[in-house]
Amino acid sequence: MVNKWGIPIDVENTVLARDKSCVYCGVTFTKNDNSRKTKQSWEHIVNDIRINGADNIALCCMSCNASKGAKLLKIWLDSKYCKDKGITKETVALVVKKAIKNPPELK
Ligand SMILES: [Zn+2]
Repeated sequence: MVNKWGIPIDVENTVLARDKSCVYCGVTFTKNDNSRKTKQSWEHIVNDIRINGADNIALCCMSCNASKGAKLLKIWLDSKYCKDKGITKETVALVVKKAIKNPPELK
């Protein structure tokens, strides 16, 4: 069973329970549509949708997702967006730190 983003349901549940705020900038997600920027969105930390484990799937805000796009994490962390927001490899969530150290691979 996969959800509409192609993410296995058990992984989806794990990630929903784990990521209560953006894994990159730490903003708390909003449920209403008034602030689309702080809405949660599904993120593949390593930009390969075939890597479908909870070590590669995370929730981040729409702003970070839009800014990161298809960039490599390391490159994105050097971007103006991250510098302006104070996002570094030290400030990101644990799942992202792990992915920096040990990038999830296709199993
Ligand atoms: Zn964010």
